[in-house]
Amino acid sequence: MCGIVGAIAQRDVVPILQEGLRRLEYRGYDSAGIAVITANSALQCRRAAGKISQLSALLDQSPVAGHLGIAHTRWATHGEPTTANAHPHLSSDKIAVVHNGIIENHEELRAELQSSGYVFSSDTDTEVITHLVHYYLLETHCLLSAVERTLTRLHGTYAIAVAAAGEAGRMIAARQGSPLLIGVGVGEHFIASDVMALIPVTQQFIFLEDGDIADIHLDAVNIFDAHGAPVERPMQMSGLSADTIGRNGYRHYMLKEIFEQPEALTETLAGRFADGHVLENSFGDKAASIFDRVREVRIIACGTSYHAGLIASYWFDEIAGIPCRVDVASEFRYRQPVVTPDTLIVTLSQSGETADTLAALEEAKRCGFKYSLSICNVPESSLVRASDLVLMTRAGPEIGVASTKAFTSQLVALMMLVLVLGRRHALSLEGEAGIIDELLSLPAAIHQVLQLNDEIK
Ligand code: GLU
Repeated sequence: MCGIVGAIAQRDVVPILQEGLRRLEYRGYDSAGIAVITANSALQCRRAAGKISQLSALLDQSPVAGHLGIAHTRWATHGEPTTANAHPHLSSDKIAVVHNGIIENHEELRAELQSSGYVFSSDTDTEVITHLVHYYLLETHCLLSAVERTLTRLHGTYAIAVAAAGEAGRMIAARQGSPLLIGVGVGEHFIASDVMALIPVTQQFIFLEDGDIADIHLDAVNIFDAHGAPVERPMQMSGLSADTIGRNGYRHYMLKEIFEQPEALTETLAGRFADGHVLENSFGDKAASIFDRVREVRIIACGTSYHAGLIASYWFDEIAGIPCRVDVASEFRYRQPVVTPDTLIVTLSQSGETADTLAALEEAKRCGFKYSLSICNVPESSLVRASDLVLMTRAGPEIGVASTKAFTSQLVALMMLVLVLGRRHALSLEGEAGIIDELLSLPAAIHQVLQLNDEIK
């Protein structure tokens, strides 16, 4: 799952899209592309395999400009990382689509579209979306309805943006299982898969929810939920500034983030203790009443977060005296768990947008697990919104793909949970106070270790 940026404005959007793509580079990608609606309402597309600098070189040779455009960095899931497979994908030079995610039923849809005469020019799953929109546009003569109909045909995950020749004042965005947000400017609107992409142009964001479709114009945004009903999603201010995401003199982001661990842990610990106790409300209003009932913990996570969960599972047993098991989210989704009534489902995710973790939480609720808590680093994320209780790690944006400060902050947050549950079970008052002392001295201890950097080298 890679990056999406889009813009509709009274100025040329190509520089905004290029800058947005550059800001998403940290996620990794194999190709990039951009499509704009030009002054005469035609669709123009430029794509390049490799780095964004290659796309920029192409744009220098063969410039495009327009007031509406969509752009993408691709991380191939279906088809080689080539120019032909790079997004945007077009249908009859009329429809352009960028997509993050995976369409699981793309083979059936491809066969169906081919039998209706559509010719495919890529190996991607995404191209079926483009032709479906084209097909339904011929039937409905309305871009929004065409996208709505298309979405009913898709199985899988997506964040998409759609632009159409002849529609210079409108783009459509939709999400299911992949993040997508709208940036609100003054008389202009943007979309992106990640706040980072839009920080230079706005700080105001509307986060789409799963199933949402947004009809985006220069001066208006209309959002419809999974049932087609108009909905209002709240506008939120982002605290991120362009500075937060610089490298600050470090050779790469991961190094910077390793050195940010003392600060990240200090933030995670701040204001959450008093008199040798963890303050339970740090987990939310309903924390005490839920914690009183919990007899078992089940952690669900992916990748690094899963490993943080594995470490904590020892603590739950040894320190809190509470049984704990840990599931990989992608596996949990497909098993039939025995539902124990007093189990707390704990999901861990840096971004709060990890698709498998979100789906696993939904599945856990569907099976009948009653209590959920998420430990997360992004307050406005889907996981936070879907959980009863939340403990924010406050590690700041983590750009390095290999997690460092988010991982250590998760461990600290998990230990806080061990303490609040443990005090109801095997943990004594002195035991809790002792661990809190150690937690509070961690930032300084890590700082000391990092000071040894040159010697260790
Ligand atoms: N599945 C699509 C492809 O392979 C999208 C990949 C992505 O999310 O970047 O082209």
